[in-house]
Amino acid sequence: MTKFDMTHSPKLWLTAFSCFLALGAGLLLWDTFRHQEQSETLTTINHPKTAGPVAAKPALDNVNLAPALPSPKQIQTKEKRTIKLAAGDSLSSILTAQGVSNRQIYQLTQADTKEAFKKLNPNDRITITLEQPNAQLLALTLEQDIRQYEVFTAQENHFSHKTIQRAIDVIPTYKEARIESSLFVDGSNAGIADKLLFQLASIFKWDIDFALDIRRGDAFAILYEEQYIDGEAIGTGNILAAEFINNGRYFEAIRYQTERRIDYFTADGLSLRKAFIRTPVDFNRISSRFNPNRLHPIFKTTQPHRGVDYAASEGTPVQSSGDGEITYAGDIRGYGNAVIIDHGRGYTTLYAHLQGFAPNIKTGYQVSQGEEIGYVGQTGWATGPHLHYEFRVNGIHQNPETIAIPNDSPMSKDELTVYLRYAQSIKATLQRSHSAMFKQALSQIRR
Ligand SMILES: [Zn+2]
Repeated sequence: MTKFDMTHSPKLWLTAFSCFLALGAGLLLWDTFRHQEQSETLTTINHPKTAGPVAAKPALDNVNLAPALPSPKQIQTKEKRTIKLAAGDSLSSILTAQGVSNRQIYQLTQADTKEAFKKLNPNDRITITLEQPNAQLLALTLEQDIRQYEVFTAQENHFSHKTIQRAIDVIPTYKEARIESSLFVDGSNAGIADKLLFQLASIFKWDIDFALDIRRGDAFAILYEEQYIDGEAIGTGNILAAEFINNGRYFEAIRYQTERRIDYFTADGLSLRKAFIRTPVDFNRISSRFNPNRLHPIFKTTQPHRGVDYAASEGTPVQSSGDGEITYAGDIRGYGNAVIIDHGRGYTTLYAHLQGFAPNIKTGYQVSQGEEIGYVGQTGWATGPHLHYEFRVNGIHQNPETIAIPNDSPMSKDELTVYLRYAQSIKATLQRSHSAMFKQALSQIRR
């Protein structure tokens, strides 16, 4: 109705300008309000597919809506966003999309001593706290692992970085299974993680050959650590105790920390571990056995073969067969690179033709059972890569394949007293948990 004419109606012009001011202020107010709301509520953005147009757009654009106005004092707000990574995302692509400056992105990578940003995976989560409207990054949290997360916090001219471990609740949990086809099939069917089944096989490896000895009707029970974070099961820890009924024989194992190491023991306190591993290398075949009257392969004369030759690929790790002290690590004529270990109680072992030695291996070093000492090679007089392994008792060579291996040294008397009390309570827990099936299997054990 009213004709809008700025030239002839200054009053109307003023009114129009006021309206424009009000509109501009309103937009600014709305903008501020929106960001404050976001700062209070965690906004989850699925990046990049479903990223909303507002979220993806640098916030500065909104402020520029009223460029003609005298610049108002900027109201700074904090905004928190969580971004779930997709394939191909990088730290730089994600933060650039959020308006973070290249300088801050660079500072972040400088603070990343663990190089976590170089190992980003789809489904990792990055949570950023931005100071708006300048998209100043105040903090960044990177979650790649359920057990821990990385926190980067802005300082004067750099970021500080720390790794936060989440609190894990550990609940002892009982499970058992009867073997119908195999340890792994029936274990999995009983809801037991493969990791625990490997641990179980390792605990009883001294007494049970899991490749050959397992029979239908065998049964086992485990008490293990189930781990939780915020009430959610996240994995398993150690096996605290285990029982295995194998072909009519009964074995038990209780995990316990002695003065020497954490190990598994019978309820009576005997170590399941033997003092020596039978074969100190993962070999392909035995190329020459222990033979006091052997014809030497190179010299064609009768020369006793005082050890066992385990043929294996060049570079295969060789382990110490028992705890002990390295008494020699170096070249021996004919043997090439060789290690000699004194295990105490009159036992020594020798490992020859090694390609090289593991890092710490030198005279005087205390080695643990199973520790890598060197690598299979063919140094010295050897016709192919193999480990020549000798086992001596009081200086006399014995056949490593057949020698009766002693049990590990026992606990001290004081230690044993404390242990027996603990073992009793663990046994009671196991017995309370046994199913009718397991009790039945126990009742059929040969005495
Ligand atoms: Zn040999």
